[in-house]
Amino acid sequence: MLYARVVLPLAQPMYTFSLDEELAVGVGDAVVVQFGSSRYYTGIVWEITTTKPDIPRLKPILRKLYTTPLVRPHAQRLWEWTADYYMCSIGEVMRMALPAMAKPSATSLAEVDERTITAPMERYVALATELRSEEALADYVHKHERRAPRRTATLDKIAALATERMAEDGFVPRRLVDADNAHFAALRSKHLIVEELRPREVGTNNAQRDFLLPTLSEAQQQALQAIKRGHDDGRVALLHGITGSGKTEIYIHLMAEALSSGRDVMMLVPEIAITAQLIERLEHIFEGRTTTYHSHLTPLRRGQSYLRLAASTGGELIVGVRSALFLPMNSPGLIIVDEEHDPSYKQSDMQPRYNGRDMAVVLGSLYGAKVVLGSATPSLESYMNALSGKYCYVELTERWGEGSLPEVVISDTLRAVKRGERKLHFNIDMLRAMDASLTAGEQVILFQNRRGYAPYIQCRTCGYSPRCPHCNVTLTQHKATSRMECHYCGYSTERPTVCPNCETQDMATMGFGTEKVEEEISRIYPEARVERLDADSATSERAYRDIVGRFERGESNILVGTQIVTKGFDFAGVTTVGILNADNLLSSPDFRASERAYQLMMQVAGRAGRRNKHGRVIIQTSQPTHPVIRYVVAGDYHAMARVELGEREAFGYPPYSHLIRLTLRCCDYEQLRYAAHYTANTMRRKFGSRVMGPVAATREMLRGEYYAAIALKIESGASMRRARTLLKDAIEEVRTNKEYKRVTINVDVDAW
Ligand code: ADP
Ligand code: ZN
Repeated sequence: MLYARVVLPLAQPMYTFSLDEELAVGVGDAVVVQFGSSRYYTGIVWEITTTKPDIPRLKPILRKLYTTPLVRPHAQRLWEWTADYYMCSIGEVMRMALPAMAKPSATSLAEVDERTITAPMERYVALATELRSEEALADYVHKHERRAPRRTATLDKIAALATERMAEDGFVPRRLVDADNAHFAALRSKHLIVEELRPREVGTNNAQRDFLLPTLSEAQQQALQAIKRGHDDGRVALLHGITGSGKTEIYIHLMAEALSSGRDVMMLVPEIAITAQLIERLEHIFEGRTTTYHSHLTPLRRGQSYLRLAASTGGELIVGVRSALFLPMNSPGLIIVDEEHDPSYKQSDMQPRYNGRDMAVVLGSLYGAKVVLGSATPSLESYMNALSGKYCYVELTERWGEGSLPEVVISDTLRAVKRGERKLHFNIDMLRAMDASLTAGEQVILFQNRRGYAPYIQCRTCGYSPRCPHCNVTLTQHKATSRMECHYCGYSTERPTVCPNCETQDMATMGFGTEKVEEEISRIYPEARVERLDADSATSERAYRDIVGRFERGESNILVGTQIVTKGFDFAGVTTVGILNADNLLSSPDFRASERAYQLMMQVAGRAGRRNKHGRVIIQTSQPTHPVIRYVVAGDYHAMARVELGEREAFGYPPYSHLIRLTLRCCDYEQLRYAAHYTANTMRRKFGSRVMGPVAATREMLRGEYYAAIALKIESGASMRRARTLLKDAIEEVRTNKEYKRVTINVDVDAW
């Protein structure tokens, strides 16, 4: 009898099951087990031993689910690293890493079987056995070439593909052979070929291919060489290239190299939102190899992609969001993290609270793969690693082709108000710039970091603002639905016309979101076609693509949006970019506020004047002399970074420390308060002054629960491993204390 330790998709340790040898189960295989009285789960076999564990009544492994293992040895190491570093169970890593449909669970075995999916299949074709030798084929072709040239050409093609792909059994995907169904049917009936249904393969592993690559400019060529030198020293490369410098073209050259040596390539992007343009470009060059992976795909597609990749033998090009990191790969040769500074690489809402950019570096070192981090505005973490020489720093300071960086103009909102040079929420400078672009038939992007109509409404008589009863934040007014909505939990209610507090009829909308911007624009420019791109308008991938597509084709003139519009778009017609309210970027209480404000403004500015057209960026602010605004005007990343790093060092913030945040929550306010102080004190005994708090978290009450936060700063150079061990002990002490049993503690390592 064998015994297997199995990971289940739960916040639980591993459990041991007995394993019948007949099942032919190996490490990394997905299996079905019963856990609890009436629940069947998919688990991953982590270890197999012959020593009987000291546990009475072991349950057996019931089934093996797929023919190929779902988790390869390197991926096992990655899961273990993730669980250890981010302080969660390996089951929680599994829950996130495996798409739902690849790990069916149910209340009966029959149901599990029903829910089990298979990898997508496709038709493969091979020459009939009698024709497999070179002489036999040559002989046949010679005899039939004149009368049936099409038939012999197809046979030749199949043989050539089989050789090129080193297909030992002679089978090649039928789609690579250029012929129609009828033709294949004819060949089959003449017993010249045989066909088989096999799992669909995308990456064409060992096939040597010449890809049609873009010609690089001199500057791009130099950057590429510098990256390669860095990789030769075994270092991660940080490509700091301004917007429009053509980082993608450099990635493409690196990809071609990795793919043609039979290795896999992984490219991470912050949000799949921007990938439509990118995928099209990649698919054009590396046709048939690309797999995309993101949350807009159907659960079935995601499950099938995972299964297909688990069986792949290499040569895959995967483009996806952070969770794509956990897709199975045979042998990754290159990992690219584009827009590496982007906050969406960090998963904050559930365990593992990992950072995809950091994990990419870990993945690279596990597999010996090359890593490139690219950005126009690198994170200070990566920049520090470059300054210290840990990463190879490569800078691209010019735009590709005729493009030049846009001119940045500051428009002082207070002054505009004083002088009466403001119409609705637009300063005269903004309107003039928009006029100029629209008259010339060019396009405008307007960025406002708030969605909805108004962030809050307020009674002009008593000052009352309606708040979410569950989350204690102001409710955002949405005009389209004429409702008030909580942007944290989704609670919504009708907009009151009479103040619920003093009953006067004087409720005013305060501030402005994208919906209001859209409305005002249409009043000022009734002729212009305006589109809005935010979480309310782009509710599906389809809706999203339509909006972007219309703007791309010039069917709309003005695009209003939230931070989605700041990301990687390459629109040719945009000459004016407006940032409608820089103040709310600058005044965020977060220690990263300045860095983020700089990044957002530079990224959205980068959408202007990308093709040999002169672009301009208008920033409306009431703090025109704010240092961050000055760095944006000068486009001086290095100055921003120097000053910001100085501040971070003075206060011991990342990248000079690791920040670990504990969040405690409970529906009982008193219990939470005591637990928070108890936890902080327990931690202080181990960590001293490195502990900060407890404080009530920024949203004190969320979804009907109370929150408190404790922060722990572990200075660089101190052992994180030791810190995690001590912290685990402290948390265990609280968790096992009966007085606090209703309190939930979440840990976020390298918190944002
Ligand atoms: P980045 O990602 O650095 O902002 P992109 O890679 O999107 O920049 O390039 C900006 C634009 O310039 C794109 O339209 C791209 O097609 C074009 N471009 C950049 N480099 C080249 C090149 N070597 N050959 C052809 N087009 C290029
Ligand atoms: Zn709410």
